Amino acid sequence: MYLGERFDLVALYSGGLDSVLAVKVIAQQGKKILAVKFKHPFNRGVWENKFREYLDDEMCSLVWEIPIGPEFMEIIMHPRYGYGRNYNPCIDCKIFMYRKAAWIAQQVGAQGILTGEVVGQRPMSQTKDTLALMERESFLKGLVLRPLTAKNLPPTTLEESGFVDRNSLYDFSGRGRVPQFVLAEKFGVTRYSAPAGGCLLTDPGYSYRLNEAIGHGSLNIRGAQLLKLGRHFRLPSGGKVVVGRFDEENAQLLDFAGNRYPVLEDAYKAGPAAILLGEPTSSNLKTSARIVTRYSKSQQDPEATVKYRIPGDENEKLIAVTPGSEEFVRKFMIAADD
Ligand code: SF4
Repeated sequence: MYLGERFDLVALYSGGLDSVLAVKVIAQQGKKILAVKFKHPFNRGVWENKFREYLDDEMCSLVWEIPIGPEFMEIIMHPRYGYGRNYNPCIDCKIFMYRKAAWIAQQVGAQGILTGEVVGQRPMSQTKDTLALMERESFLKGLVLRPLTAKNLPPTTLEESGFVDRNSLYDFSGRGRVPQFVLAEKFGVTRYSAPAGGCLLTDPGYSYRLNEAIGHGSLNIRGAQLLKLGRHFRLPSGGKVVVGRFDEENAQLLDFAGNRYPVLEDAYKAGPAAILLGEPTSSNLKTSARIVTRYSKSQQDPEATVKYRIPGDENEKLIAVTPGSEEFVRKFMIAADD
């Protein structure tokens, strides 16, 4: 993409198969499409760029990734249209993205936006009524093209004007995926992820942690990202301990802690890293040390030594504790099912 380049349509690219297919269907009509992907703090990230090979091709489709942060957090906290089964405010989220895409469409001279939505596929945000509502709320009435399900919906202005050929669009509906798989094969799209797999707000475990964090008044972008990592424990003081589960998480936690949060690790035996989000009082440090040794090689020992660093103090310190039992750590663990 170059400065001043013009496009026919702006596509909301979610990272899922449907949005790729929607772009393909319209690109086949010779339309030049700018596919935009909004990266919010709740993206899982496992399928990042997976579809770039299918979009960034000679059919004039490009991918433009746009980070969104604080404004999106406000939607999470106060969605006008409520939440889905978990912490997913899908209707408000879609309206937000429609509006962003509409603004981008204006900048690049596009006639409207297109999405991979399918009527009936999602109970909250993909009923006929909510699709219409989202259009109205984003001032895009008649300008949202949904190529995979268009024939289940009234013709858009884009179809009525002949800008897009309605006859070449589809009538997919419901949660079944077979028609999409058939179409994917036709377009040679062979690598795709599970639908909605990319948004942590639909994940019950993550939503539970998020709700708990909001209950303690501690939600910001960094905090939301921290919820993706490790095991989480709420201390009686209101502080929190996060313990890594594997090497990569330990490294990420240490990176997150930087010079801001105390870090604890078993001093002499292999084990995870933990960070303390709270005051480094003796009580908080002792409980954190008991928790971290529950997951170290010291867990069966009568006593263990934990080293810890407090921001602003270059000297590492030691604390001797009795490793926490399973029963002990469960008292503090933030988890839905455990
Ligand atoms: S699943 Fe997540 S990203 Fe998708 S609409 Fe819902 S809240 Fe937004």
